[in-house]
Amino acid sequence: MIPQNRIIIIGGGLAGCEAAWQAARRGVTVELLEMKPRVFSPSQKSADLAELVCSKSLRSRDLHNAVGLLKEEMGRLGALVLEAALGHQVPAGKSLAVDREAFARHITEKRSGHPRIRVERREVAAVPPDRPLVVATGPLTSDLLVQSLARLVGSEQLHFYDAIAPIVYTESITESRVYRGSRYGHGGEDYINCPLDEAQYDRFLQALLTAEMVPLHSFEEPKYFEGCLPIEIMAQRGRDTLRFGPMKPVGLPDPRTGKVPHAVVQLRQDNRSGSLFNLVGFQTKLKWKEQERVFRLIPGLENAEFARLGSIHRNTFLDGPQVLFPSLQLKADPRILLAGQITGVEGYVESAAMGLLAGINAVRVLEERPAAVPPPTTALGALIGHISREPVKEFQPMNINFGLFPPLTGKIPKKLKGERLAQRALEDLKAWMAAEGL
Ligand SMILES: Cc1cc2nc3c(=O)[nH]c(=O)nc-3n(C[C@H](O)[C@H](O)[C@H](O)COP(=O)(O)OP(=O)(O)OC[C@H]3O[C@@H](n4cnc5c(N)ncnc54)[C@H](O)[C@@H]3O)c2cc1C
Repeated sequence: MIPQNRIIIIGGGLAGCEAAWQAARRGVTVELLEMKPRVFSPSQKSADLAELVCSKSLRSRDLHNAVGLLKEEMGRLGALVLEAALGHQVPAGKSLAVDREAFARHITEKRSGHPRIRVERREVAAVPPDRPLVVATGPLTSDLLVQSLARLVGSEQLHFYDAIAPIVYTESITESRVYRGSRYGHGGEDYINCPLDEAQYDRFLQALLTAEMVPLHSFEEPKYFEGCLPIEIMAQRGRDTLRFGPMKPVGLPDPRTGKVPHAVVQLRQDNRSGSLFNLVGFQTKLKWKEQERVFRLIPGLENAEFARLGSIHRNTFLDGPQVLFPSLQLKADPRILLAGQITGVEGYVESAAMGLLAGINAVRVLEERPAAVPPPTTALGALIGHISREPVKEFQPMNINFGLFPPLTGKIPKKLKGERLAQRALEDLKAWMAAEGL
C-alpha cells in the first residue's frame, strides 16, 4: 500500500518524468510507475525513461518563435527536460536537437537516483485509488488503462486517432480572392470560402494525387474511418469525389458573381480570437512540404502561413475542454491530473510542458492549496487554453503556435509580432511566478 503523503505518477515519458521532478523538487515524495521494460508500446525500443520515439529535435530555439518561447518559460520554471536537452544537444542550426540516448539516460539517472522519487517498473491496468494521481501515459497508453480511463471520463471523451486538418493564420489569407458565408446562408458569415473554377480544381486534384505521403508506422492500420478519410484518399476515388465531399460548392454562391463555383474549400474559425482558420475536411497524410505546396494552389491560400499542418496518426487523447480544468485536474475527479500528450497537446516540448504544470499542481492538490494556472498570454497558458478553455465541436491536438495567444493590442508590424508576444509572455510569466511563489 502506498503511503498517503505521496504523489503517484503513471508513465515515465517526458511528461511523467517532468511532473515527478517538479513534485520532488518541492519536497514531495513521488511513486513513478512505468511499464517498460516489462511491456513496450509499439513505438518504444529503450528501457530508459523519457524516450524520444522519433525525431531528435525539440524544434526552434528562437525566442520569437512560439516553441522557442515555450522552452524559455519551461527553463525559467526549472524544467528537467530542458536541462537534459541543453546538456546533450547536437548541432542543428536554429533548432534544439539532442543525442537521444544521452538525453534519456540523463533523465533516467536523475529520476532513479533522486531520494524522493521511487521508480517502479510495472504496467498499471486500471486507474488506482491513490490520490493525488497524475496520468501521463502518452499517445500509446496501454489498452487496459485506456478502458479504465474511459469508464472514468466517458468513452466518448477518449480518442484513438487524430485526424488533423491544416490550420492557417487568418492574416495570411488573400482576402480579395475569398468570400465569407455559410452554406445556404445558415450560420451567417462563419466560414471563409475559397472558390475554384474547373481548371483550378483539376490542377489542384492532379497535385494532390501525385503528392508524397508519409509512410504508416507498422502499428498503424491503413484503415481509415469513412468519416475522416485523408483528403488524398478521397481524391483517389474519382474526379468528382471531392466536389461531392469536402469541396462541395452547393449553397455557396460567390457574391461577386452570383454564381456557384465549380468547387469550394471552406475554412472554419479555429480559435476564439479568429486569428486561425482550419481547412474543413482536409485531414491528410501528405508530407508537410507537400501540404504547403499543394494547399497553396487553392485560391486565397497562395501565401498561406500554416500554424499547423495536417496529420492522421494513432494517438490516445482526451477531449480536454470537456474533461479538464485549466489546472489539468479532471472534472470527474479533481484529485486526478492529466499530463502530456494525452491532454490533447502535440509534441515532445508541449507534452513535457504539461508534465511540468501537472507536477506543480499535484503538489498543490496534496497540500490542499489552490492550483496554479499560467496567464493566457504565456506559451504555457496558451496551450492550457487550447486543451481546457474553448470547447469545440471536433477537438483535435495542437502544437504550440502564436495563433493560440490572445492578440496584441494596436497595429503591430508582422515582423515584430513574435518579439512583442514573447516580451509580453515573459513579463506576465515573471509576475505570475512571483504571485504564486514559483
Ligand atoms: C510513433 C510516434 C512518433 C512521434 N514522433 C514525434 C516527433 O518526432 N516529435 C515530437 O515532438 N513528437 C512526436 N511524437 C509525439 C510524442 O510521443 C509525444 O510528443 C511525447 O513523447 C509524449 O510524451 P508523453 O510523456 O505524454 O508520453 P510518452 O513519452 O509516450 O510516455 C508515456 C509513458 O507511459 C508509459 N505507459 C503507457 N501506458 C502505461 C501503463 N498502463 N502503465 C505504466 N506505464 C505506461 C509508456 O511506456 C511511456 O513510457 C510521436 C508519437 C508517436 C506515437
